[in-house]
Amino acid sequence: MKLVLLGAPGAGKGTQGEMLTAKLGIPIISTGNILREAVRNATPVGLKAKDFMDKGLLVPDDVIIGIMAERTARDDCANGYILDGVPRNAAQAEMLEANGITVDKVLLIDVADDVIERRMTGRRTCSKCSAVYHIISKPPRVEGICDLCGGELVVRADDKPETVRDRLAVYHSQTEPLIEYYGDKVVKVSVPETSSVAETGELVCKALGID
Ligand code: AMP
Repeated sequence: MKLVLLGAPGAGKGTQGEMLTAKLGIPIISTGNILREAVRNATPVGLKAKDFMDKGLLVPDDVIIGIMAERTARDDCANGYILDGVPRNAAQAEMLEANGITVDKVLLIDVADDVIERRMTGRRTCSKCSAVYHIISKPPRVEGICDLCGGELVVRADDKPETVRDRLAVYHSQTEPLIEYYGDKVVKVSVPETSSVAETGELVCKALGID
């Protein structure tokens, strides 16, 4: 299965992607996580990406395609992959296809903007391993500390309210047109504000026809 997760920043792509990667036994590829690691390690890609990311803007397409070509060539992608946060615009979708990085299905996780804004201000991310928590819906066992690796939990620079609004605007203008681009490959899941992670997971599995 070659699956793209589509949805606004904060819609739950990463969280549901983790559930799907365990169920389907294929890797999840998050360009956001790869870029954040590159920024932390101050690699050439990280240095190029940092300013765009801090402002909530998209990193240039050529950087993304380079990352994707390298990542999907690894052995663990032989049986498929789940793409989280990529492609982000039609140009990236076309470049992926041109590089043989094909797509079978697109899962659209649809969450209203006002719900996203409320959610993202409570999001905390591990500064070491990028695991994601939420102060209300998914708190860590010890406040401020990652359950998985003991790293410090931080508010991502791009999760600040004003940046969240900019990222939503970028999503609507650049990423949302991909719904039309992918046409009947798209499976939509509408997530109510009250839906827990597990309930959303059930909706996702049902939509994709997996147990
Ligand atoms: P995410 O964690 O997917 O929300 O990504 C965080 C930030 O990384 C985005 O706001 C962009 O600045 C950058 N980014 C991640 N994936 C992409 C992509 N496919 N194309 C361009 N920029 C990206």
